[in-house]
Amino acid sequence: MNTTHDVFNQPDPLVDYNLFDGNRALQSALQLNAPSLDTAELSALGATLGSEAMQTHARLANAHTPELHSHDRFGRRIDQVEFHPSYHALMEVATGAGLHGTPFAASEQATCHAHTRRAAAFMMFTETEPSMLCPISMTYAVTPALRTNPAIYADWAPQLTRRAYDPALKLWRNKPGVTMGMGMTEKQGGSDVRANTTRAEPEGTDAWGQRFSVTGHKWFFSAPMCDAFLILAQTSSGLSCLFLPRVLQDGSLNAIRIQRLKDKLGNKANASSEVEFHGATAWLVGEEGRGIPQILEMGTMTRLDCALGTSGLMRQALSIALNHTSQRQAFGKRLIDQPLMRNVLADLALESEAATALSMRLARAFDRQADAHERVMARLLTPIAKFWICKRGSHFAQEAMECLGGNGYVEEGGQGVMARIYREMPLNSIWEGAGNIMAIDLLRALRKADAAAALAHELAPARGAHPALDRLAAALPTRVEAMATEIEARRLAQDVALAVQAALLAQSAPAEVFSAFCESRIGGNWGHAFGTLAAQTDFDTILTRAQPR
Ligand SMILES: Cc1cc2nc3c(=O)[nH]c(=O)nc-3n(C[C@H](O)[C@H](O)[C@H](O)COP(=O)(O)OP(=O)(O)OC[C@H]3O[C@@H](n4cnc5c(N)ncnc54)[C@H](O)[C@@H]3O)c2cc1C
Repeated sequence: MNTTHDVFNQPDPLVDYNLFDGNRALQSALQLNAPSLDTAELSALGATLGSEAMQTHARLANAHTPELHSHDRFGRRIDQVEFHPSYHALMEVATGAGLHGTPFAASEQATCHAHTRRAAAFMMFTETEPSMLCPISMTYAVTPALRTNPAIYADWAPQLTRRAYDPALKLWRNKPGVTMGMGMTEKQGGSDVRANTTRAEPEGTDAWGQRFSVTGHKWFFSAPMCDAFLILAQTSSGLSCLFLPRVLQDGSLNAIRIQRLKDKLGNKANASSEVEFHGATAWLVGEEGRGIPQILEMGTMTRLDCALGTSGLMRQALSIALNHTSQRQAFGKRLIDQPLMRNVLADLALESEAATALSMRLARAFDRQADAHERVMARLLTPIAKFWICKRGSHFAQEAMECLGGNGYVEEGGQGVMARIYREMPLNSIWEGAGNIMAIDLLRALRKADAAAALAHELAPARGAHPALDRLAAALPTRVEAMATEIEARRLAQDVALAVQAALLAQSAPAEVFSAFCESRIGGNWGHAFGTLAAQTDFDTILTRAQPR
């Protein structure tokens, strides 16, 4: 072997670091939203999630993608998906950290911060690997909707909330923990679920209430190995929400046929599928004919997770970019010391911190649903956070990738994670209600009687902190009133999001971060690409705060 060169000026990968201890934006958001929360568990989880072992699991779970086995070798239908052991290892950690239904356990509810704690942990887990958070998120989100069938909820709640994972396809009562998914989207309609054609015929009543036989299909059915699903189907009273278990009481498989797995841009470790129901057995959840509002109770909480997930991915991309540019030299200096690179990194850091602040604020609303203001905030901030944070994600990932130069675009090895982040980013914006649907939903929410006053109350702590924010906040109520059609709904969603983000940063971030955010995003002293902050920005403070170690 002839050696042609030494390898130098390539960075050490960002590994074996604590995702919580190094994330000052997340710590500040927790101080604002859950000041009495003991963060020791989050810090321990941060160390686990930043370890090389977890990064390896994430890589393997994505490299060895799930495989569908529709039949056994004798021709019998089995409809099973086989995952790499690393997928299961990650699911163990996610359920062990209580990222699924745990916040709804009575013991957790007593802490007052169950959803906020879980949100911080969820965000950090996304930095390690987001794919398996799809079933984890759906298992978290299902409780508010499922409670409206008290008999099923009483049976399933212990396994939904317990910090346990059992991937086996077997009867729920024989498992320590269970997972749940959802099925709304059909070929002919996703956003417009009223177009669903799946039919549900009544079969009688039993201990779980009204039972139906379901025939039809779902075009996107992520996580088909979940133990049960909430689905929409047409009964004689209209679109209804049904509980559809994978395994029936006698131990037989329910008639859910997995047709194929989707070949997706990213999110590779998650087995998104297409399914058909051939007279599958399901039970009514909520009122017959009121399926859409019923299942949207689940959708609201998965939308929270889209915002949290994108905030986590932003933080991960920023951390990798900071790690790289702190070591790589060009033109006689570390990249992070080059003035224009400082501008790019600081701009990304502002975006990341604002995303963290908004998504953690939204999580707090779910901890305080007894409070009228927090109920309005959950309604308003869900579409705002889902729309704006997820919309910013892809742009953010591209710029963070560019900080690594050519290495950023390469798939293999540790740094290849940037390519994974980039491919993952658009997903949170599309699923659970794409951008336009969120903007229209916000408009609907803002037009409710109590919305304008609640928004003003939310922005009040930052009144007088920055003139541009004051101007924006003052104009919002008139803009909502004047908006005759939804043609400017995205613009409104963007501006409400920026106002709320700024108001949160005023309360939780250093003054330098707050003022740079307001100057650029609200005051107009900014360009159309990242890296266009004004020269007088305090880059040192912003970058020191953002460093992951
Ligand atoms: C990887 C992946 C996994 C998924 N997993 C699941 C799952 O487990 N369960 C499930 O039920 N679904 C799942 N989905 C489906 C997802 O929720 C839908 O794709 C999404 O809601 C959009 O629906 P659609 O694809 O039918 O697009 P459409 O509804 O056709 O929308 C297309 C575009 O039109 C826009 N649009 C729609 N209506 C309007 C309007 N009135 N005004 C302006 N613009 C409008 C939308 O914003 C979107 O940009 C998954 C999707 C993906 C990509």
